[in-house]
Amino acid sequence: MEKPKKLHAALLSSPGMGHLIPIMELGKCLVADHGFEVTIFVVPSQASRAEAEIIDSAMTPKLLDIVELPAPDLTAAGLGPNASMVERLAVMMREARSAFRSALKAMEAPPDVLIVDLFGTEHLCMGDELRIPKYVYVPSNAWFLALLLHSPVLDKEVKGEYVDQTELLKIPGCKPVRPEDVVDPMLDRSNQQYHEYLRIAGEIAMGDGILLNVWEDLQAETLAALRNEEFLGRAVNGPVYTVGPLIRPVRPAGLGKELLEWLDKQPRESVLLVSFGSGGTMSAEQLAELAWGLELSRQRFIWILRKPIVESLDGSFFDVGKGGGDDELSSFLPDEFAVRTRDVGLIIPLWGPQLDILSHPSVGGFLSHCGWNSTLESIVNGVPMIAWPLYAEQRQNATLLAEEIGVVIRPKELPSKKIVGREEIEKLARMIIAKKEGHQMRARVKELKSTAEKAVTKGGTSYESLRRMKEDCKMRIHQINKAH
Ligand code: UDP
Repeated sequence: MEKPKKLHAALLSSPGMGHLIPIMELGKCLVADHGFEVTIFVVPSQASRAEAEIIDSAMTPKLLDIVELPAPDLTAAGLGPNASMVERLAVMMREARSAFRSALKAMEAPPDVLIVDLFGTEHLCMGDELRIPKYVYVPSNAWFLALLLHSPVLDKEVKGEYVDQTELLKIPGCKPVRPEDVVDPMLDRSNQQYHEYLRIAGEIAMGDGILLNVWEDLQAETLAALRNEEFLGRAVNGPVYTVGPLIRPVRPAGLGKELLEWLDKQPRESVLLVSFGSGGTMSAEQLAELAWGLELSRQRFIWILRKPIVESLDGSFFDVGKGGGDDELSSFLPDEFAVRTRDVGLIIPLWGPQLDILSHPSVGGFLSHCGWNSTLESIVNGVPMIAWPLYAEQRQNATLLAEEIGVVIRPKELPSKKIVGREEIEKLARMIIAKKEGHQMRARVKELKSTAEKAVTKGGTSYESLRRMKEDCKMRIHQINKAH
C-alpha cells in the first residue's frame, strides 16, 4: 500500500539566535515526532559564526531542509543608525518578503502549511496566496503573549507612557504587569518600534492558531485566559498550542576537552554560570561590580564575557557585535582578577556552549538575562537562576520566574536601571549556590524539570498539542480543497 504523503511545513525564522534556535527545534520536533517534512527559511542577520553553527548542527543528522534567504538590503529601507532592535527586525522581515515569495515559488511542490515566527506575521498572507493553513510560533511564554495581544486595548485605554503609570497594567484573566516590567517596544509610545509591536499584535489573529514554547503545567492560568472569550475570536483566531519546552539537545562533545575537565573537577552543583544570551551586555562600571561580586562570593563560576557597551543607544543593553579579544576583555576587569580567581573561575570570551555547561552536574546556578531560551535551558537542566534582565521581554520574564514560577532570585533594583553593587552580587551568588534558599529553589526547578520532560514525551501535553495541531492542519487543508 502506498504510504500517505507527509505534510510539508514551511517555517520562517527571523534573524537572530533567539529566533533561529527555537524555530530549528520546532522544525526538528515536527519531523522526528509528528511525521512532517520541514523546510526552514532563514532571514540572516550579520553572518555570525554561532548562527552558522546552529544551522550546521540542525543538519546533522539531516532531518530537514534549510534555505537561507538573501540578506535584506537595509539601506533602501532607510533605517537610521539608532533604530531599535524591534524596528530593525521588522524592517528586515518586511524587506525579505519578495525573497521569501520567490523561494516558496521555487519549491518543487508548494508546502502544505506555513509557520512564521513572531516577527514574520507580515508573511502570513503568503499562506492565503498559497491557500494553505498558517500559524504563528511565539518562542516565548504565555504571559508575554497575553501582554502583546492585549496591547492594542491598552493603547486605547492608557494615557501617557506605560512606564509612568502608577497602577498595574491589567490583562484579562492574567497577572497584571508592573509598568517598569513592560517589554522594550512599549517603553516609548512615540518610537517606531511601538507601532511595529502593535501591528504584530493585530496580525497574529490572521493566523489559524498560535504555537507557544511552554507547557501546560508551567502557566495553566494564563493559558486558560488566552483561551477564553476575552482573547479568543478577537486577538486570537484559533487554538493556542503549547509545544515546549523545545530546546537544543546537549551535544556529546559540546563542552570540549578543557571545559569538561575543569567542570568534572568541581563539586556537584557548585558552579555559577554567568551568561547574558546572544547579545546581552552592560556598562563598564556594572561589569566591574559584577566581577568584584563574583570574586567576593568565593563561589565557583564560568563567565561568558562580552565587552561592555560605552553607551546604550536605546537603553536596551543588546549588542551582538561586541566581542573583544582576551586582552581587551581583561582590561575591563579589576586588576589581576583572572589571577586571583584562577582556581575558582573560568572566563569564556563572547560565546560559549551555554546549554552544554548548564547540563553538567557541577553547575548549580545560572546568572541569566532571562531570555526565554536560556530560561527553558535552565529549567530543563534543573538549575535555579539569578535574574538579570536586560532587554526585550526579559523584565517581564524575570517577574514571572520570581513571583509565579519560583525559580529565580533577583537584585533589589532592575540591572538595566541601576548599577547592582558588588555586595549584593556577592550575596546573590552565595545564596543561589550555597544557602538554604538556593537549595529549596533547586528542588523546585527539579520538580518543574520533570513536568517539562513529561510534556514533550509521547502522550504528554506538548506532544499531544502538536498532534492536535497536525489534525487541525489536515482538516483546514481538506476544507480549503473542498472550497476550491
Ligand atoms: N547561547 C549560547 N552561548 C552563548 C550565549 C547564548 O549557546 O554564549 C544560546 C543560549 O543557549 C540560548 C540562545 O543562545 O539558546 C539565547 O537565546 P535567549 O532567548 O536566551 O536570549 P536572546 O539571545 O534571544 O536574548
